[in-house]
Amino acid sequence: MALDRKPAPNDLNAFWMPFTSNRQFKKAPRMLVGAKDMHYTTADGRQILDGTAGLWCCNAGHCRPKITEAVQRQVAELDYAPAFQMGHPIAFELANRLIDIAPEGMAHVFYTNSGSESVETALKLAIAYHRAKGDGARTRLIGRERGYHGVNFGGISVGGIVSNRKAFGTLLAGVDHLPHTHLPGQNDFTRGQPEHGANLADELERIVALHGAETIAAVIVEPMAGSTGVLLPPKGYLERLRAITRKHGILLIFDEVITGFGRLGSAFAAQHFGVVPDMITTAKGLTNGVIPMGAVMTTAEVHDAFMQGPEHMIELFHGYTYSGNPVAAAAGIATLDTYREEGLFERAHALAPYWEDALHALKGTRHVIDIRNMGLIGAVELEPIPGEPTKRAFSAFLKAYEKGILIRTTGDIIAMSPPLIIDKPQIDQLVGTLREVLEALD
Ligand code: PMP
Repeated sequence: MALDRKPAPNDLNAFWMPFTSNRQFKKAPRMLVGAKDMHYTTADGRQILDGTAGLWCCNAGHCRPKITEAVQRQVAELDYAPAFQMGHPIAFELANRLIDIAPEGMAHVFYTNSGSESVETALKLAIAYHRAKGDGARTRLIGRERGYHGVNFGGISVGGIVSNRKAFGTLLAGVDHLPHTHLPGQNDFTRGQPEHGANLADELERIVALHGAETIAAVIVEPMAGSTGVLLPPKGYLERLRAITRKHGILLIFDEVITGFGRLGSAFAAQHFGVVPDMITTAKGLTNGVIPMGAVMTTAEVHDAFMQGPEHMIELFHGYTYSGNPVAAAAGIATLDTYREEGLFERAHALAPYWEDALHALKGTRHVIDIRNMGLIGAVELEPIPGEPTKRAFSAFLKAYEKGILIRTTGDIIAMSPPLIIDKPQIDQLVGTLREVLEALD
Protein backbone atom coordinates (compact mmCIF):
# COMPACT_ATOMS: atom_id res chain seq x y z
CA MET A 1 0.00 0.00 0.00
CA ALA A 2 1.67 3.17 -1.22
CA LEU A 3 -0.71 5.80 0.15
CA ASP A 4 1.69 6.45 2.98
CA ARG A 5 4.73 6.79 0.73
CA LYS A 6 6.31 10.24 0.93
CA PRO A 7 7.91 11.02 -2.43
CA ALA A 8 11.17 12.95 -2.39
CA PRO A 9 10.40 16.66 -2.86
CA ASN A 10 12.67 16.82 -5.89
CA ASP A 11 10.91 13.94 -7.68
CA LEU A 12 9.26 15.79 -10.56
CA ASN A 13 8.62 12.79 -12.74
CA ALA A 14 4.93 12.00 -12.29
CA PHE A 15 3.38 15.39 -13.06
CA TRP A 16 3.03 15.75 -16.82
CA MET A 17 2.88 19.52 -17.06
CA PRO A 18 0.46 21.26 -19.46
CA PHE A 19 1.73 23.49 -22.28
CA THR A 20 5.27 22.99 -21.00
CA SER A 21 8.57 21.79 -22.41
CA ASN A 22 8.61 19.09 -19.71
CA ARG A 23 12.12 17.77 -20.43
CA GLN A 24 13.62 21.24 -20.26
CA PHE A 25 11.64 22.24 -17.17
CA LYS A 26 12.53 19.17 -15.18
CA LYS A 27 16.24 19.80 -15.75
CA ALA A 28 15.96 23.39 -14.50
CA PRO A 29 12.65 23.82 -12.66
CA ARG A 30 11.14 27.17 -11.91
CA MET A 31 9.21 26.61 -8.71
CA LEU A 32 6.86 29.15 -7.17
CA VAL A 33 6.09 28.59 -3.51
CA GLY A 34 4.36 31.76 -2.40
CA ALA A 35 2.62 34.89 -3.66
CA LYS A 36 1.52 38.24 -2.31
CA ASP A 37 -0.04 41.14 -4.22
CA MET A 38 2.26 41.82 -7.22
CA HIS A 39 4.90 39.20 -6.47
CA TYR A 40 5.64 35.52 -6.52
CA THR A 41 8.22 33.97 -4.20
CA THR A 42 10.41 31.29 -5.74
CA ALA A 43 11.65 28.14 -4.02
CA ASP A 44 15.07 29.78 -3.68
CA GLY A 45 13.52 32.79 -1.96
CA ARG A 46 13.54 35.33 -4.79
CA GLN A 47 10.73 37.82 -5.46
CA ILE A 48 9.35 37.78 -9.01
CA LEU A 49 7.24 40.70 -10.23
CA ASP A 50 4.16 39.16 -11.81
CA GLY A 51 3.84 40.75 -15.23
CA THR A 52 1.16 38.32 -16.38
CA ALA A 53 -1.34 38.06 -13.49
CA GLY A 54 -0.49 34.37 -13.33
CA LEU A 55 -2.04 33.21 -16.59
CA TRP A 56 -4.00 36.42 -17.24
CA CYS A 57 -6.22 35.62 -14.28
CA CYS A 58 -5.13 37.16 -10.95
CA ASN A 59 -6.46 40.61 -11.81
CA ALA A 60 -6.62 41.71 -8.16
CA GLY A 61 -3.11 40.44 -7.41
CA HIS A 62 -2.22 37.52 -5.17
CA CYS A 63 -3.44 36.18 -1.84
CA ARG A 64 -5.87 39.01 -1.31
CA PRO A 65 -7.24 38.63 2.25
CA LYS A 66 -10.89 39.23 1.38
CA ILE A 67 -10.89 36.43 -1.19
CA THR A 68 -8.85 34.08 0.98
CA GLU A 69 -11.20 34.59 3.93
CA ALA A 70 -14.32 34.12 1.81
CA VAL A 71 -12.97 30.81 0.53
CA GLN A 72 -12.01 29.68 4.02
CA ARG A 73 -15.42 30.59 5.42
CA GLN A 74 -17.31 28.93 2.61
CA VAL A 75 -15.33 25.71 2.58
CA ALA A 76 -16.09 25.29 6.28
CA GLU A 77 -19.80 26.11 5.93
CA LEU A 78 -21.04 24.47 2.73
CA ASP A 79 -18.21 22.79 0.89
CA TYR A 80 -20.18 21.34 -1.97
CA ALA A 81 -23.76 21.24 -3.13
CA PRO A 82 -25.12 19.91 -6.40
CA ALA A 83 -26.48 22.40 -8.89
CA PHE A 84 -28.59 19.78 -10.68
CA GLN A 85 -32.16 20.16 -9.35
CA MET A 86 -30.73 21.78 -6.18
CA GLY A 87 -29.37 25.18 -5.38
CA HIS A 88 -27.55 27.28 -2.85
CA PRO A 89 -27.92 31.03 -2.42
CA ILE A 90 -24.47 32.26 -3.31
CA ALA A 91 -24.44 30.82 -6.82
CA PHE A 92 -27.60 32.87 -7.45
CA GLU A 93 -26.08 35.92 -5.79
CA LEU A 94 -22.96 35.73 -7.94
CA ALA A 95 -25.03 35.33 -11.12
CA ASN A 96 -26.98 38.49 -10.25
CA ARG A 97 -23.78 40.35 -9.43
CA LEU A 98 -22.30 39.34 -12.78
CA ILE A 99 -25.33 40.54 -14.68
CA ASP A 100 -25.10 43.85 -12.79
CA ILE A 101 -21.67 44.56 -14.29
CA ALA A 102 -22.26 42.86 -17.66
CA PRO A 103 -23.00 44.68 -20.89
CA GLU A 104 -26.59 45.78 -21.37
CA GLY A 105 -28.66 42.87 -22.60
CA MET A 106 -26.86 40.06 -20.77
CA ALA A 107 -29.44 38.45 -18.52
CA HIS A 108 -28.45 34.89 -17.54
CA VAL A 109 -25.38 33.02 -16.33
CA PHE A 110 -24.45 29.38 -16.93
CA TYR A 111 -21.57 28.20 -14.74
CA THR A 112 -18.59 26.15 -15.86
CA ASN A 113 -15.17 25.46 -14.36
CA SER A 114 -12.80 26.96 -16.92
CA GLY A 115 -12.52 29.02 -20.04
CA SER A 116 -12.45 25.90 -22.19
CA GLU A 117 -15.69 24.68 -20.66
CA SER A 118 -17.26 28.10 -21.12
CA VAL A 119 -16.43 27.91 -24.81
CA GLU A 120 -17.85 24.38 -25.18
CA THR A 121 -20.97 25.51 -23.35
CA ALA A 122 -21.46 28.57 -25.54
CA LEU A 123 -20.98 26.59 -28.76
CA LYS A 124 -23.45 23.92 -27.63
CA LEU A 125 -25.91 26.59 -26.49
CA ALA A 126 -25.71 28.26 -29.89
CA ILE A 127 -26.59 25.10 -31.78
CA ALA A 128 -29.28 24.09 -29.29
CA TYR A 129 -30.76 27.61 -29.33
CA HIS A 130 -31.44 27.48 -33.04
CA ARG A 131 -32.86 23.98 -32.71
CA ALA A 132 -35.14 25.12 -29.90
CA LYS A 133 -36.43 27.79 -32.26
CA GLY A 134 -37.13 25.22 -34.97
CA ASP A 135 -33.99 26.11 -36.91
CA GLY A 136 -32.16 22.80 -36.47
CA ALA A 137 -30.19 23.16 -39.71
CA ARG A 138 -28.13 25.94 -38.15
CA THR A 139 -25.21 23.89 -36.86
CA ARG A 140 -22.15 25.42 -38.50
CA LEU A 141 -19.70 27.35 -36.34
CA ILE A 142 -17.30 30.06 -37.39
CA GLY A 143 -14.11 30.92 -35.54
CA ARG A 144 -11.04 32.85 -36.58
CA GLU A 145 -7.45 32.16 -37.53
CA ARG A 146 -5.14 32.68 -34.57
CA GLY A 147 -8.13 32.53 -32.22
CA TYR A 148 -7.66 30.79 -28.88
CA HIS A 149 -10.74 29.26 -27.32
CA GLY A 150 -9.27 26.77 -24.91
CA VAL A 151 -8.28 23.20 -25.54
CA ASN A 152 -11.44 21.10 -25.70
CA PHE A 153 -12.58 19.71 -29.03
CA GLY A 154 -15.05 22.48 -29.81
CA GLY A 155 -12.58 25.13 -28.74
CA ILE A 156 -9.70 23.85 -30.86
CA SER A 157 -12.06 23.35 -33.81
CA VAL A 158 -13.13 27.00 -33.86
CA GLY A 159 -9.70 28.08 -32.64
CA GLY A 160 -7.00 28.98 -35.08
CA ILE A 161 -3.67 28.23 -33.43
CA VAL A 162 -2.12 25.57 -35.63
CA SER A 163 0.04 23.91 -32.97
CA ASN A 164 -2.99 23.45 -30.72
CA ARG A 165 -4.95 21.71 -33.50
CA LYS A 166 -2.67 19.68 -35.67
CA ALA A 167 -2.04 16.66 -33.41
CA PHE A 168 -5.69 16.05 -32.70
CA GLY A 169 -7.31 14.59 -35.76
CA THR A 170 -10.30 15.81 -37.71
CA LEU A 171 -11.91 17.96 -35.00
CA LEU A 172 -15.52 19.17 -35.30
CA ALA A 173 -17.10 19.11 -38.73
CA GLY A 174 -18.80 22.18 -40.14
CA VAL A 175 -16.38 24.84 -38.95
CA ASP A 176 -15.04 27.79 -40.93
CA HIS A 177 -12.51 30.44 -39.96
CA LEU A 178 -12.44 34.13 -40.55
CA PRO A 179 -9.02 35.56 -41.36
CA HIS A 180 -7.08 36.95 -38.41
CA THR A 181 -6.69 40.71 -38.20
CA HIS A 182 -2.93 40.96 -37.80
CA LEU A 183 -1.54 42.93 -40.74
CA PRO A 184 2.23 43.28 -40.44
CA GLY A 185 3.53 46.32 -42.25
CA GLN A 186 0.19 48.13 -42.04
CA ASN A 187 -0.51 48.55 -38.34
CA ASP A 188 2.94 48.19 -36.72
CA PHE A 189 3.46 50.00 -33.42
CA THR A 190 -0.16 51.12 -33.27
CA ARG A 191 -1.27 52.39 -29.90
CA GLY A 192 -4.67 50.88 -29.20
CA GLN A 193 -6.94 49.83 -32.04
CA PRO A 194 -5.32 49.61 -35.47
CA GLU A 195 -6.60 51.68 -38.38
CA HIS A 196 -6.51 48.97 -41.02
CA GLY A 197 -8.42 45.74 -41.31
CA ALA A 198 -12.11 46.39 -40.56
CA ASN A 199 -12.89 45.04 -44.02
CA LEU A 200 -11.66 41.60 -42.91
CA ALA A 201 -15.03 41.23 -41.15
CA ASP A 202 -16.64 41.15 -44.59
CA GLU A 203 -15.13 37.69 -45.08
CA LEU A 204 -18.07 36.58 -42.99
CA GLU A 205 -20.36 37.52 -45.87
CA ARG A 206 -18.30 35.26 -48.12
CA ILE A 207 -18.67 32.32 -45.74
CA VAL A 208 -22.39 33.01 -45.42
CA ALA A 209 -22.72 33.09 -49.20
CA LEU A 210 -20.83 29.81 -49.48
CA HIS A 211 -22.92 27.82 -47.00
CA GLY A 212 -26.14 29.76 -46.64
CA ALA A 213 -27.04 31.67 -43.50
CA GLU A 214 -29.64 29.02 -42.68
CA THR A 215 -26.81 26.57 -41.84
CA ILE A 216 -24.79 28.82 -39.54
CA ALA A 217 -25.30 28.85 -35.78
CA ALA A 218 -22.67 31.20 -34.42
CA VAL A 219 -19.50 33.19 -34.85
CA ILE A 220 -17.04 33.14 -31.96
CA VAL A 221 -14.17 35.59 -31.59
CA GLU A 222 -12.08 37.04 -28.83
CA PRO A 223 -12.88 40.75 -29.04
CA MET A 224 -9.15 41.20 -28.47
CA ALA A 225 -7.16 38.05 -29.17
CA GLY A 226 -4.95 37.44 -26.13
CA SER A 227 -3.09 34.15 -26.16
CA THR A 228 -2.13 34.48 -29.81
CA GLY A 229 -0.19 37.64 -29.07
CA VAL A 230 -2.50 40.51 -28.14
CA LEU A 231 -4.14 41.25 -31.49
CA LEU A 232 -6.45 44.21 -31.23
CA PRO A 233 -9.57 44.53 -33.33
CA PRO A 234 -9.15 47.08 -36.12
CA LYS A 235 -11.39 50.13 -35.75
CA GLY A 236 -14.89 49.24 -36.92
CA TYR A 237 -14.20 45.50 -37.22
CA LEU A 238 -16.32 44.27 -34.31
CA GLU A 239 -19.15 46.59 -35.31
CA ARG A 240 -19.17 45.01 -38.76
CA LEU A 241 -19.15 41.49 -37.36
CA ARG A 242 -22.12 42.46 -35.21
CA ALA A 243 -24.01 43.94 -38.14
CA ILE A 244 -23.43 40.95 -40.40
CA THR A 245 -24.30 38.35 -37.76
CA ARG A 246 -27.46 40.25 -36.87
CA LYS A 247 -28.48 40.57 -40.51
CA HIS A 248 -28.24 36.79 -40.98
CA GLY A 249 -29.67 35.61 -37.66
CA ILE A 250 -26.28 34.24 -36.58
CA LEU A 251 -25.35 34.41 -32.91
CA LEU A 252 -22.22 36.34 -31.98
CA ILE A 253 -20.15 34.98 -29.09
CA PHE A 254 -17.38 37.04 -27.51
CA ASP A 255 -14.78 34.96 -25.75
CA GLU A 256 -13.84 37.27 -22.90
CA VAL A 257 -11.87 34.78 -20.85
CA ILE A 258 -8.92 37.20 -20.88
CA THR A 259 -10.61 40.52 -21.59
CA GLY A 260 -13.27 40.12 -18.89
CA PHE A 261 -12.94 41.69 -15.45
CA GLY A 262 -11.16 44.92 -16.13
CA ARG A 263 -8.26 43.98 -18.36
CA LEU A 264 -9.13 46.69 -20.89
CA GLY A 265 -10.34 49.18 -18.29
CA SER A 266 -14.03 48.20 -18.43
CA ALA A 267 -15.70 45.23 -16.81
CA PHE A 268 -15.89 43.57 -20.24
CA ALA A 269 -14.40 44.28 -23.65
CA ALA A 270 -17.91 44.42 -25.10
CA GLN A 271 -18.43 47.61 -23.09
CA HIS A 272 -15.02 48.97 -24.01
CA PHE A 273 -15.71 48.52 -27.72
CA GLY A 274 -19.42 49.33 -27.52
CA VAL A 275 -20.43 46.11 -29.28
CA VAL A 276 -22.72 43.68 -27.49
CA PRO A 277 -22.75 40.02 -28.51
CA ASP A 278 -25.39 37.37 -27.78
CA MET A 279 -23.16 35.42 -25.41
CA ILE A 280 -19.99 36.12 -23.45
CA THR A 281 -17.65 33.43 -22.18
CA THR A 282 -15.61 34.16 -19.06
CA ALA A 283 -13.36 32.45 -16.49
CA LYS A 284 -9.97 33.50 -15.04
CA GLY A 285 -10.60 36.92 -13.43
CA LEU A 286 -14.05 35.76 -12.32
CA THR A 287 -12.47 34.27 -9.18
CA ASN A 288 -9.11 36.02 -9.46
CA GLY A 289 -7.75 32.62 -10.48
CA VAL A 290 -8.11 31.36 -6.91
CA ILE A 291 -10.69 28.63 -7.52
CA PRO A 292 -11.43 27.25 -11.00
CA MET A 293 -14.65 28.73 -12.30
CA GLY A 294 -16.06 29.94 -15.61
CA ALA A 295 -19.36 31.36 -16.74
CA VAL A 296 -21.27 31.95 -19.94
CA MET A 297 -23.54 34.96 -19.98
CA THR A 298 -26.42 35.05 -22.43
CA THR A 299 -29.14 37.41 -23.46
CA ALA A 300 -32.74 36.76 -22.42
CA GLU A 301 -33.43 35.92 -26.06
CA VAL A 302 -31.00 32.97 -26.00
CA HIS A 303 -32.13 31.74 -22.59
CA ASP A 304 -35.84 32.13 -23.22
CA ALA A 305 -35.73 29.95 -26.33
CA PHE A 306 -35.17 27.02 -23.99
CA MET A 307 -37.93 27.87 -21.51
CA GLN A 308 -40.73 26.10 -23.33
CA GLY A 309 -42.50 22.81 -22.87
CA PRO A 310 -43.76 21.28 -19.62
CA GLU A 311 -42.29 22.84 -16.49
CA HIS A 312 -41.06 19.61 -14.94
CA MET A 313 -38.84 18.92 -17.96
CA ILE A 314 -35.11 19.65 -17.91
CA GLU A 315 -34.60 22.41 -20.46
CA LEU A 316 -30.94 21.89 -21.27
CA PHE A 317 -29.07 18.60 -21.04
CA HIS A 318 -25.75 20.16 -20.18
CA GLY A 319 -23.84 21.03 -17.02
CA TYR A 320 -20.93 20.07 -14.82
CA THR A 321 -20.65 18.46 -11.39
CA TYR A 322 -18.98 21.64 -10.18
CA SER A 323 -21.21 24.18 -11.98
CA GLY A 324 -21.77 26.95 -9.45
CA ASN A 325 -19.63 25.24 -6.81
CA PRO A 326 -20.20 27.13 -3.54
CA VAL A 327 -16.52 27.68 -2.75
CA ALA A 328 -15.89 28.99 -6.27
CA ALA A 329 -18.99 31.20 -6.05
CA ALA A 330 -17.79 32.61 -2.72
CA ALA A 331 -14.42 33.36 -4.31
CA GLY A 332 -16.25 35.03 -7.20
CA ILE A 333 -18.31 37.30 -4.94
CA ALA A 334 -15.27 38.30 -2.87
CA THR A 335 -13.36 38.95 -6.10
CA LEU A 336 -16.10 41.24 -7.44
CA ASP A 337 -16.15 43.00 -4.05
CA THR A 338 -12.40 43.54 -4.27
CA TYR A 339 -12.63 44.90 -7.82
CA ARG A 340 -15.35 47.33 -6.72
CA GLU A 341 -13.91 48.42 -3.38
CA GLU A 342 -10.48 49.08 -4.87
CA GLY A 343 -11.84 50.52 -8.10
CA LEU A 344 -9.59 48.22 -10.08
CA PHE A 345 -11.35 48.51 -13.45
CA GLU A 346 -11.11 52.30 -13.19
CA ARG A 347 -7.52 51.94 -12.08
CA ALA A 348 -6.70 49.90 -15.20
CA HIS A 349 -8.36 52.60 -17.29
CA ALA A 350 -6.43 55.37 -15.55
CA LEU A 351 -3.07 53.61 -15.78
CA ALA A 352 -3.50 52.60 -19.42
CA PRO A 353 -1.83 55.71 -20.93
CA TYR A 354 1.22 55.27 -18.66
CA TRP A 355 1.39 51.59 -19.59
CA GLU A 356 1.10 52.47 -23.26
CA ASP A 357 3.92 55.04 -23.12
CA ALA A 358 6.15 52.69 -21.14
CA LEU A 359 5.67 49.84 -23.59
CA HIS A 360 6.08 51.95 -26.70
CA ALA A 361 9.31 53.36 -25.30
CA LEU A 362 10.68 49.89 -26.15
CA LYS A 363 10.48 50.80 -29.82
CA GLY A 364 14.04 50.72 -31.14
CA THR A 365 15.14 48.11 -28.59
CA ARG A 366 17.04 45.20 -30.16
CA HIS A 367 14.89 42.57 -31.92
CA VAL A 368 11.60 44.48 -31.44
CA ILE A 369 9.47 44.56 -34.59
CA ASP A 370 6.07 45.52 -33.18
CA ILE A 371 4.40 46.69 -29.98
CA ARG A 372 0.67 46.49 -29.26
CA ASN A 373 -1.35 47.55 -26.23
CA MET A 374 -4.71 48.32 -24.73
CA GLY A 375 -5.88 48.76 -21.14
CA LEU A 376 -3.35 46.87 -19.03
CA ILE A 377 -2.35 44.34 -21.65
CA GLY A 378 0.48 44.54 -24.10
CA ALA A 379 2.71 42.62 -26.47
CA VAL A 380 6.21 43.07 -27.76
CA GLU A 381 6.89 41.12 -30.93
CA LEU A 382 10.44 40.00 -31.66
CA GLU A 383 12.10 39.21 -34.93
CA PRO A 384 12.31 35.41 -35.02
CA ILE A 385 15.68 33.69 -35.37
CA PRO A 386 15.62 32.26 -38.90
CA GLY A 387 14.79 28.56 -38.79
CA GLU A 388 14.28 28.62 -35.02
CA PRO A 389 10.88 30.13 -34.36
CA THR A 390 9.91 30.83 -30.73
CA LYS A 391 13.49 30.43 -29.49
CA ARG A 392 14.32 34.10 -29.04
CA ALA A 393 11.19 34.91 -27.07
CA PHE A 394 11.60 31.83 -24.92
CA SER A 395 15.18 32.86 -24.12
CA ALA A 396 13.82 36.27 -23.15
CA PHE A 397 11.33 34.59 -20.82
CA LEU A 398 14.09 32.59 -19.11
CA LYS A 399 16.36 35.61 -18.72
CA ALA A 400 13.50 37.77 -17.48
CA TYR A 401 12.67 35.19 -14.83
CA GLU A 402 16.30 35.21 -13.71
CA LYS A 403 16.13 38.99 -13.45
CA GLY A 404 12.93 38.92 -11.39
CA ILE A 405 10.02 39.51 -13.78
CA LEU A 406 7.41 37.13 -15.09
CA ILE A 407 6.42 37.59 -18.73
CA ARG A 408 4.70 35.18 -21.09
CA THR A 409 5.64 34.15 -24.57
CA THR A 410 3.60 32.89 -27.47
CA GLY A 411 5.59 32.23 -30.61
CA ASP A 412 8.01 35.14 -30.90
CA ILE A 413 5.72 37.47 -29.02
CA ILE A 414 6.14 38.56 -25.41
CA ALA A 415 2.81 39.22 -23.74
CA MET A 416 2.23 41.07 -20.50
CA SER A 417 -0.98 41.52 -18.50
CA PRO A 418 -0.11 42.50 -14.94
CA PRO A 419 -2.54 42.45 -12.04
CA LEU A 420 -4.59 45.65 -12.10
CA ILE A 421 -3.05 46.70 -8.77
CA ILE A 422 0.31 47.36 -10.48
CA ASP A 423 1.76 50.82 -9.82
CA LYS A 424 3.91 53.08 -11.98
CA PRO A 425 7.30 52.12 -10.47
CA GLN A 426 6.40 48.47 -11.04
CA ILE A 427 5.48 49.20 -14.66
CA ASP A 428 8.90 50.86 -15.00
CA GLN A 429 10.58 47.83 -13.44
CA LEU A 430 8.75 45.43 -15.75
CA VAL A 431 9.50 47.33 -18.92
CA GLY A 432 13.02 48.37 -17.84
CA THR A 433 14.00 44.79 -17.05
CA LEU A 434 12.54 43.61 -20.33
CA ARG A 435 14.62 46.21 -22.17
CA GLU A 436 17.82 44.99 -20.46
CA VAL A 437 16.92 41.40 -21.32
CA LEU A 438 16.27 42.17 -24.99
CA GLU A 439 19.37 44.29 -25.41
CA ALA A 440 21.49 41.42 -24.06
CA LEU A 441 19.82 38.73 -26.15
CA ASP A 442 21.37 37.10 -29.24
N1 PMP B 1 -10.61 31.38 -24.19
C1 PMP B 1 -9.68 32.32 -24.13
C2 PMP B 1 -9.88 33.59 -24.90
C3 PMP B 1 -8.54 32.15 -23.35
O1 PMP B 1 -7.62 33.11 -23.31
C4 PMP B 1 -8.40 30.96 -22.61
C5 PMP B 1 -7.20 30.71 -21.72
N2 PMP B 1 -6.08 31.45 -21.95
C6 PMP B 1 -9.40 30.00 -22.71
C7 PMP B 1 -10.50 30.24 -23.50
C8 PMP B 1 -9.29 28.70 -21.98
O2 PMP B 1 -9.40 28.86 -20.63
P1 PMP B 1 -8.97 27.67 -19.64
O3 PMP B 1 -7.49 27.54 -19.75
O4 PMP B 1 -9.46 28.16 -18.31
O5 PMP B 1 -9.70 26.46 -20.09
